[in-house]
Amino acid sequence: MTVQAISPSAYRNIVLADRIRAQLLEIYGNKCAECGVSSDDAHLEINHIYGRTWKIRDLNRYRRYLRYRHEARQGRINLLCPECNKAYQVRRHEQPPGRCLLFEAWLAGNKPF
Ligand SMILES: [Zn+2]
Repeated sequence: MTVQAISPSAYRNIVLADRIRAQLLEIYGNKCAECGVSSDDAHLEINHIYGRTWKIRDLNRYRRYLRYRHEARQGRINLLCPECNKAYQVRRHEQPPGRCLLFEAWLAGNKPF
């Protein structure tokens, strides 16, 4: 069996990314923000509360986690288990956070105020 070698810099990027992921998990209490399932029992996913404004494929793993940490400081992300993340994306699509239904009705010509 051959082992695929990776470059020292790629290895370093992975180690640094994992370190930031561990920090984020700790900051968010190692649990899903919705159902509370522990990171021991589910792979917690980084959720962009207001949607992600960048493409995952544009950044390597380390740069993605630097971005996540920056977004965490702005209160733009949380951790969700895969089930809650799926449900959140459906809800967000139906009614994105911060969307004002009155304003949308007004825009649609109903002019409620
Ligand atoms: Zn959950």
